[in-house]
Amino acid sequence: MKWEANVRKVTPYVPGEQPKCTQMIKLNTNECPYPPSPGVAEAIAGISTEELRLYPDPEVGELRQALAEYYGVTKEQVFVGVGSDDVLATAFLTFFHSDRPLLFPDITYSFYEVWAELFGIPYERVPLKEDFHICAGDYKRENGGIIFPNPNAPTGMEESRELIEDIVGSNRDVVVIVDEAYVDFGADSVLSLTEKYDNLLVVQTFSKSRAMAGMRIGFAIGHPKLISYLNDVKFSFNSYTMNRTAIAAGVAALKDETYFRNTLERIIETRERTKAELKKLGFLFPDSKSNFIFATHPRLSAKSLYQACRERNIYLRYFDKPGIRDYLRISIGKEEEMHIFLDFLKHYIEQERG
Ligand code: PMP
Repeated sequence: MKWEANVRKVTPYVPGEQPKCTQMIKLNTNECPYPPSPGVAEAIAGISTEELRLYPDPEVGELRQALAEYYGVTKEQVFVGVGSDDVLATAFLTFFHSDRPLLFPDITYSFYEVWAELFGIPYERVPLKEDFHICAGDYKRENGGIIFPNPNAPTGMEESRELIEDIVGSNRDVVVIVDEAYVDFGADSVLSLTEKYDNLLVVQTFSKSRAMAGMRIGFAIGHPKLISYLNDVKFSFNSYTMNRTAIAAGVAALKDETYFRNTLERIIETRERTKAELKKLGFLFPDSKSNFIFATHPRLSAKSLYQACRERNIYLRYFDKPGIRDYLRISIGKEEEMHIFLDFLKHYIEQERG
């Protein structure tokens, strides 16, 4: 068709499957296996249709204030969006406006490359070390910005605060984004470094540790100037990103610290038990500080195992990409779900041995 010459053609990000069946063990998109705090359901039920008639607060003041109090910063240091994907996309559009390349690891969250392509941002994928760690020295050269997750995805590996500070401090003329989507599962957040470095933006989400992937809430914390630039782009795009229900649910989630901590503890315990069991079965994996494990097996094809699990309604994530196609990313589910999964693995391995 003739009009296709004028179309912006992009290769989109492919999210993990959301199968429609109910009888499944869903370990493929790093969701929290437990529901959010009961206060969240109450907050949602409390939204009246009279409220829905009206636009939400375009400044999202209430949720930003609640986040500011929770993290000990000011509201002017907080930006919120429709999941951290929305926050990250806005940040790409805002901060990576340079002829020099944006740098991110070659094995990382694959949406980074998609946004760079979409917005026409030059970029370079920087190889990780053989052990999947980031080498700070690789990020000390001319660039138009830097982004990486900590812990990284899909490896689950944590980088030290010292390494991150080294990268941020060596790149004061560009914005460095640390995507802390999984930080609550036992890694050390660099949020406090935003007080020291005005070029550091830390992004987090309610989708994983706060069990609210379906609600779509993400946020960024950084210097008020960074936040103000983000808001300028947001208000040039869509004033009402956060709906009233999400705002109320987000505020309620932040109030229930005990529930939050208990949920995290359960997931971390299950993760550590799963690591021990996987090790016994001969799997190898980098030490995960997230709610997933990135595992490989010296004798098994990851792709075949992924498919065998799928036939049993156990959903894992498999990336058919160079460097990681021997690995499976396994989200941490409920304790009993992991038992069923590990039992299946035992039988599968026995069968393969024949
Ligand atoms: N960053 C990383 C590293 C992720 O894995 C994800 C989840 N796909 C996100 C950001 C986005 O999560 P959300 O939009 O649900 O906040």
